[in-house]
Amino acid sequence: MATLLIAEHDNTTLSELTARGLSAAKALGAPVTVLVAGANCAKAAESAARLDGVEKVLLADAPHLEHQMAEPLGLLIAGLAGDFDAVIAAASTSGKNVLPRVAALLDVMQVSDAVAIVAPDTFVRSIYAGSALQTIRSTDAKKVITVRVSAFPATPESEKTSPVEKVDVPADPGLSAFETEEKPNDERPDLGGARIIISGGRAFGSRENFAKYLEPLALKLGAAIGASRAAVDSGYAANDLQVGQTGKIVAPDLYIACGISGAVQHLAGMKESRCIVAINKDPDAPIFRIADYGLVGDVFEILPAFEQKL
Ligand code: FAD
Repeated sequence: MATLLIAEHDNTTLSELTARGLSAAKALGAPVTVLVAGANCAKAAESAARLDGVEKVLLADAPHLEHQMAEPLGLLIAGLAGDFDAVIAAASTSGKNVLPRVAALLDVMQVSDAVAIVAPDTFVRSIYAGSALQTIRSTDAKKVITVRVSAFPATPESEKTSPVEKVDVPADPGLSAFETEEKPNDERPDLGGARIIISGGRAFGSRENFAKYLEPLALKLGAAIGASRAAVDSGYAANDLQVGQTGKIVAPDLYIACGISGAVQHLAGMKESRCIVAINKDPDAPIFRIADYGLVGDVFEILPAFEQKL
């Protein structure tokens, strides 16, 4: 029995998603090898080697892996999968992009977005926008699994460093080419791994207001900015900020929902947050039912006052 965990990194820094994914991988009960695939990514591989309980790190370093696109990465992982019983990755933008391709290449069913590992072949995943939990057993000989990393603690670093082994990388299949990438704001933490998230909803009424009221607060709090789907659909916030059933699933230490009603599809993405603060002018807004702290009031008055206090 052996497990292959796909690391998340930016070629230099290992994302916390890897340390969380490692806890899930270890729950399968087999030794865990971590794959760090990228370009000039030895530093990220060294960080992975320091994580507690990692058996070995495989370093796949090639120019065409720089952007970790699904086509070359899927091919690489499928080639390595022969030595493993399970391939596991975070159910992040990247994991959700590449693992279905790996499952297809291996001709197995993918287990998506597992929130608990019951046994090496049995997994719990949430369905119906988080309203029910489903326990499934996979009969495939090889398991391909994405996990909801917010459901697993981050594995700490250890004193011991595991070996890093270079692996051969298949040639670029040439199915895709990287064009450009836009990173909205590098100073803010990534939504998926942020400890504090301040989210805005339809209440802001415009892109200008959304930025004007939320950005200074996010900066002061060191928080990531999130948004409801209504805010995204109305053009107030970028698509990748959406939290919820069809957006990102997050579980920060602190989630501040501003002018968000608390529709079930939004709650599906944030209700596991450790502490939820809701600001809404409607005292009957459903968000208050799950909030630890609720403030009934106008976001346009409360947020500037909050910022001043900070
Ligand atoms: P609204 O529901 O319009 O709520 C706005 C809130 O702001 C109200 O509660 C109001 O009282 C309050 N408010 C207004 N003005 C102020 C003010 N000045 N000060 C304070 N409070 C104020 N939604 C998501 O968020 N994420 C998803 O991933 C998602 N996926 C979906 C998938 C499907 C299949 C479907 C059908 C829907 C999905 N939705 C999702 C949409 C969801 O159902 C809601 O429509 C959406 O979450 C509402 O966003 P909102 O709370 O910003 O807007």
